[in-house]
Amino acid sequence: MSLAGATQDEVRRHNLAALARFLHDHGSTSRSELVNHTGLNRSTVGGLIADLVAVGLVRETEPVGRGVGRPSYGVEPVRERAYVLAIDLRVDRAIVALVGFGGEVLGRREHRFRKGQQREERILAQLADVCRDLLAEAPRRAVQVGVGIGVPGLVRQPDGLVRFAPNLGWVDVPLADHLRDELQVTTPVVVGNDSDLGAIAERLRGSAMGAANVVYLSGQVGVGGGIVIDGALLKGAQGYGGEVGHMRVNPQGRECRCGATGCWETEIGEPAVRAATGASDTESVASIVARAEAGDARARQGLEEVGGWIAIGVANLVHIFNPDVLVFGGALREVLPLVRQQVEDVLTGSLPAPGEHVILAAPALGDDSTLLGAAEAAFAPLLDDPVGAVAPSSKGRRPAVTA
Ligand SMILES: [Zn+2]
Repeated sequence: MSLAGATQDEVRRHNLAALARFLHDHGSTSRSELVNHTGLNRSTVGGLIADLVAVGLVRETEPVGRGVGRPSYGVEPVRERAYVLAIDLRVDRAIVALVGFGGEVLGRREHRFRKGQQREERILAQLADVCRDLLAEAPRRAVQVGVGIGVPGLVRQPDGLVRFAPNLGWVDVPLADHLRDELQVTTPVVVGNDSDLGAIAERLRGSAMGAANVVYLSGQVGVGGGIVIDGALLKGAQGYGGEVGHMRVNPQGRECRCGATGCWETEIGEPAVRAATGASDTESVASIVARAEAGDARARQGLEEVGGWIAIGVANLVHIFNPDVLVFGGALREVLPLVRQQVEDVLTGSLPAPGEHVILAAPALGDDSTLLGAAEAAFAPLLDDPVGAVAPSSKGRRPAVTA
């Protein structure tokens, strides 16, 4: 942001936002680190901290510095002061969490959709119920600053209309409007693609932390991709970029829920893993992998077949995007230890340079990448204007002396 011509209030809000963002991402921090990070002088940083303390968003802590010199008092985010509602909507379940300022999960619920209850209206009704149930547990003096939800499908921005979610069977579902009405929230409701949100979270707090170029794969029933290039999420002309699950890899393959034949997800998604290994409809990928590791020949052979298809798609992505890190999210993280060698062999046997560079990683956030990415999307209003978001009436309360 250019601050040329900005008013003192705008400069102050910009500096408060920078401080809030740093504390949210890094947790407990010394004043000296904040001075170094912002490039502002000590007394200015002291004034900004006082503003955040006054609205209850941060508290001061004991000195955290070590070594010689003056001890530097620390500050930390107050997680009970502001929170978001985060939702990871999947084909068979919804995972819902309250996430406090600073990124800590304050409470969570997992709700499985029963067979025969997966029609759109039934899913929306169950989702609203589980959200209301969890919201009733929110800390009493906390301010709810946003709602974020990840869905396995194409999402139109900025209105959060789900254009097409083939594995849910949804076409043009106004999900953001629906949640706003059902939950009666006045804060923004952000709907995002599940893999895009997974990429954001793994980059901020997970196994791709700080990497400028990241491919995050979310493997559930379907397979999606969240792609970060030079530090920015790849969106495409209309925001629908990154649908790597619908790369066509096998012209002799199965029909896909999208209408095409031989899409990558039909070879590596959960149903494909079950079909290749002779598993029942309900066996989890983790259980299939455990069988293979215990020596079950059918499971081993099936996972090797799937591994071949995983390697083909991963090699294509590595060659096109040259990522620093490629994260195997969702159920793919269970498969990674068994197929890693196959993927590395294919990478070694083709264009050498990008394949030598890439790190193949499991998500450090485990099964929660999309959930925590949804939380990050929902925190945007707070991080843009921290004082205004939690204490609107205090805007302009202090003279603009801290800029
Ligand atoms: Zn497809």
